Amino acid sequence: MDVTLRPESNSIDGKQRLTWRNPDSVPVKELQFHMYLNAFKNKETTFMKESGGVHRGASATVKDPWGSIQISSMKMVNPMDDFRPEIPLGSNSAEDLVDRITFIQPDDGNLADETVFSIQLPREVAPGETIALEILFESRLPEIVARTGWKTADTGNPFYFVGQWFPKIAVLEVPGQRYIPEDAEKGVWNAHQFHVNSEFYADFGKYDVTMRVPESYVVGASGVQMETSTENGMKAVRFEADDVHDFAWTASPDYLEFNQQWRHVNVRALIQPAHKGQAQRHLDAAITALEKYDAWVGEYPYTSLTVVDAIGGSNGMEYPTLITAGTNYGLPTWSRFLELVIIHEFGHQYFYGLLASNEFEEAWLDEGMNSYIESRIMDETYGPGAAISLGPFKLGDIELQRLSYAKQRPSSGALVTNSWEHVGGDYGKSTYSKPATVMNTLERYWGWDMQQRFLKAYYERWRFKHPTTRDLQSIAEEVSGTDLEWFFSQFVYGTAVVDYSVDSILITDKEDDQFVSRVRVHREQDGVFPTTLRLRFDDGTTEDVLWDGAERWKDFRREGTHKIVEAYLDPDFNNLLDVNRLNNRKVAASESDNSFARLAQRRAIMIYQTLFYVLSGLF
Ligand SMILES: [Zn+2]
Repeated sequence: MDVTLRPESNSIDGKQRLTWRNPDSVPVKELQFHMYLNAFKNKETTFMKESGGVHRGASATVKDPWGSIQISSMKMVNPMDDFRPEIPLGSNSAEDLVDRITFIQPDDGNLADETVFSIQLPREVAPGETIALEILFESRLPEIVARTGWKTADTGNPFYFVGQWFPKIAVLEVPGQRYIPEDAEKGVWNAHQFHVNSEFYADFGKYDVTMRVPESYVVGASGVQMETSTENGMKAVRFEADDVHDFAWTASPDYLEFNQQWRHVNVRALIQPAHKGQAQRHLDAAITALEKYDAWVGEYPYTSLTVVDAIGGSNGMEYPTLITAGTNYGLPTWSRFLELVIIHEFGHQYFYGLLASNEFEEAWLDEGMNSYIESRIMDETYGPGAAISLGPFKLGDIELQRLSYAKQRPSSGALVTNSWEHVGGDYGKSTYSKPATVMNTLERYWGWDMQQRFLKAYYERWRFKHPTTRDLQSIAEEVSGTDLEWFFSQFVYGTAVVDYSVDSILITDKEDDQFVSRVRVHREQDGVFPTTLRLRFDDGTTEDVLWDGAERWKDFRREGTHKIVEAYLDPDFNNLLDVNRLNNRKVAASESDNSFARLAQRRAIMIYQTLFYVLSGLF
């Protein structure tokens, strides 16, 4: 692509040469494209209807907020010809296909939505054949909404974050790929409209993009910076990005640039002048994430990573080798939010960038797997209070994820649900906090060694291949040699809720200083998960019993000279899916369970849980 930013109109003139190879074993005549800036075209688009014009606090109701994208020409050209942006398209005598563009609405039939189009080519593309299209387009950027657009910075200077901004070809899924049956006759286009509760899905490719901007602007982009030249007050900056499925960029005269090398990766931070003192924090967090991912999941294959301290609603987002950080959710300073966001957004280089699952249909494979690793990195790196540290009140990220799940209607919203079809607050819970908790629980169920083997095998096998939930389950079963259907059907495909409680401890005296102790435990909900019951006797000894958790009620009897004085389900806190831990433990009545100290302790736990709940609403 060769594109020119026009600050006076906040628009981009672009010329794109797309080469596309038909991956199917039958001829293809139809192509489909995403035109996502049209989500911000007017109030009738699906995005605007779903959002009421607001996305994560960024309002589209300010003066002149609208964005759009228009194609003025589209021609089939010889794929062997050089891409020469200086030659106008009109000089190519091929038929202009622009009138063949037909907007389609595969998700909701909203005819006012122009975020996906279909085009019938003048001829069929043979299996394996490569074609080239030259496309002239104009992108009009909105005032920042959904992490894309323009903004006037506090310095008075212009700021641009340019995401989802060019005509992007959709994914033709061929037989055997994702959920298309092996024996299907032909492939199917997988394209979704731009929704408020969904991110993206595209195919891998090689991007070569020249961005022309005013000379004083600093440019950050996906990929690696190549040559730069200046002419008549404008600067042309060229970036190449290989094996990525999207390309985004940012430009502003305000950015201060900081670089640090980590092994083969040049980590670049673009920082707002007011945050100059935080530059090293940005680099440190990114390098922490690079190290952990390298050790736990696999090698980062790219040579660049750019961390952008963006402004407005463009922060907290991932693009291939380009992430935005910031504190746009207005979180207080007692949280380690900057580090958390950078570690989270970096994780998307794996769960999004390299694994590239379909975020419309299985968002949890991206956000959820990423939130799981994020919580692990946060807690291991920053210790107790990794997420929130308010004096004596400390909350780790793993626990924060767990509470966000357990306290928000845990019985609704399965992980595998189309993003835009979630109701209420289920998208956030089912895409971020619940899958993080499910994966943290799986890790505690079979141990970190097995979990790491599973993560590494998943990455090794599926990077660049758009894995599905089924593929992830298969890898987990393959590396462990166990059937995990019980686990996936309840907690990934289903909405089973786990809550175990100790119902009662009953002691009966027998002759000769013998006692019968009976502990009754209860499965309160539909979820079944093996759980340890720890029995403590009056001589201080303990016994752990593994309960499969299947029956509704179960009694454990012990006879002997010592009485059971305490029963505790999941004492080591391995089953993070248990939504209520306040009922997991009981002390025999004679053991003065109601002592002042215990009551005070219980009250404190309850206050903490309420506080956790309130805090978890912030994320
Ligand atoms: Zn994310």
